[in-house]
Amino acid sequence: AKRWGRADAVLRGLEERSAAPPARLRQVADAMAVEMHAGLASEGGSKLGMIISYVDSLPSGQEKGLFYALDLGGTNFRVLRVQLGGKEGRVVKQECDEISIPAHLMTGTSQELFDFIAAALAKFVASEGEDFHLLEGRQRELGFTFSFPVKQSSIASGTLIKWTKGFSIDETVGADVVAELSSALDRQGLDMKVTALVNDTIGTLAGGRYDDNDVVAAVILGTGTNAAYVERANAIPKWHGLLPKSGDMVINMEWGNFRSSHLPLTEFDQALDAESLNPGEQIYEKLISGMYLGEIVRRVLLKMTEEASLFGDDIPPKLKIPFILRTPHMSMMHHDTSADLRTVGAKLKDVLGIQGTSLKTRRLVVAVCDIVAKRGARLAAAGIHGVLKKLGRDIPGSDKHRTVIAMDGGLYEHYTIFSETLENTLREMLGEEVSSSVVIKLANDGSGIGAALLAAAHSQYL
Ligand code: ADP
Ligand code: MG
Repeated sequence: AKRWGRADAVLRGLEERSAAPPARLRQVADAMAVEMHAGLASEGGSKLGMIISYVDSLPSGQEKGLFYALDLGGTNFRVLRVQLGGKEGRVVKQECDEISIPAHLMTGTSQELFDFIAAALAKFVASEGEDFHLLEGRQRELGFTFSFPVKQSSIASGTLIKWTKGFSIDETVGADVVAELSSALDRQGLDMKVTALVNDTIGTLAGGRYDDNDVVAAVILGTGTNAAYVERANAIPKWHGLLPKSGDMVINMEWGNFRSSHLPLTEFDQALDAESLNPGEQIYEKLISGMYLGEIVRRVLLKMTEEASLFGDDIPPKLKIPFILRTPHMSMMHHDTSADLRTVGAKLKDVLGIQGTSLKTRRLVVAVCDIVAKRGARLAAAGIHGVLKKLGRDIPGSDKHRTVIAMDGGLYEHYTIFSETLENTLREMLGEEVSSSVVIKLANDGSGIGAALLAAAHSQYL
């Protein structure tokens, strides 16, 4: 009985420290909007990169021809080709392939990583069928989706600011990632030109806009998290270039690095951050994204074991291994609706090697998942609310425009309790009238198509 009391105390402490009530969410949303202004005002003016993407127009639907895209940004790496048929034909045909990145390449050398990617791409290009047509005498063109913070210097060049999401290769930092990729393509003997460098958020925004003209922002909730939106170029004080014809500029927020005293941080978040590859950075990402949610849960369970012998007198050795409990495992346990929580029991056994858990223990595990997932989802909703504030779309407008947010990422797509909590929280924050015109649209892998569309829009042959 005493043990349960102690475990319960850990749970209650977690709940208290993780609380994200409406008043606090409003503060988070306000802080996000304030940081957006600051990041647009001057370089380094905010934790938010507010990076100028050099994308000043989004796809119109007129794009035509064969284009490739390559997406590097997390656990998997994707290649895609698409035959675009213009206003009438739209997407005539599309093919893609997904390759997982061997863990050792994420912390090895730049050349090894890019050679691996180029080799996979070369293999994919070799399988191009007769349904795809490259115009006579033309070079194949590629949109490169690279979802790490990049200091963009033109639409097709940019240097890596830092790695995130478990990647760590020092020599790539500061290098032009298009040059790195292009050299690797040369080494493969692949004749292909990178005409657009974007990240997944911008790709998703472009793909989303091609699908739906009312898309104004994109959010990624996958391994990591980020957002992008369309800003008026004359509202960007740090932009000293010519005003683009469209008057618009897409901003890559790099919102994963957001932090604010209003974020509810616990001892578990602090320890996770301190022991991470990038301490002090990506604090918002560490609260809401798929790479970290399961790991937070593991840390809480470990504490419950240490303080309250939750899983018996000995600490199960696997519970001490960082990142062993992945967010998909957490999600499966969280969604377990069986009376005896048998999926929870099975996951504890399979993933953590903990046998014969009682129903009471399983309930406690679910309660931990619930707190961690809902906090993340509520904070993500507050971030979106902040962006809508910046866009002036958080209040009832005179015209009845829709506001569509293109969403992508495995966390949002698969973790139903997370996505439902996010949507409900955003509705709460916006109120009925505004939220009836705000739509979150799942743009399943829209970033691939989006990058290909941007490659087309910036083709060397235009
Ligand atoms: P990436 O962000 O690496 O480009 P995805 O958008 O496919 O890739 O997202 C993958 C991430 O989504 C995983 O790292 C994981 O955190 C999360 N995820 C995938 N499947 C699930 C699931 N069933 N439940 C919860 N989270 C999931
Ligand atoms: Mg992705």
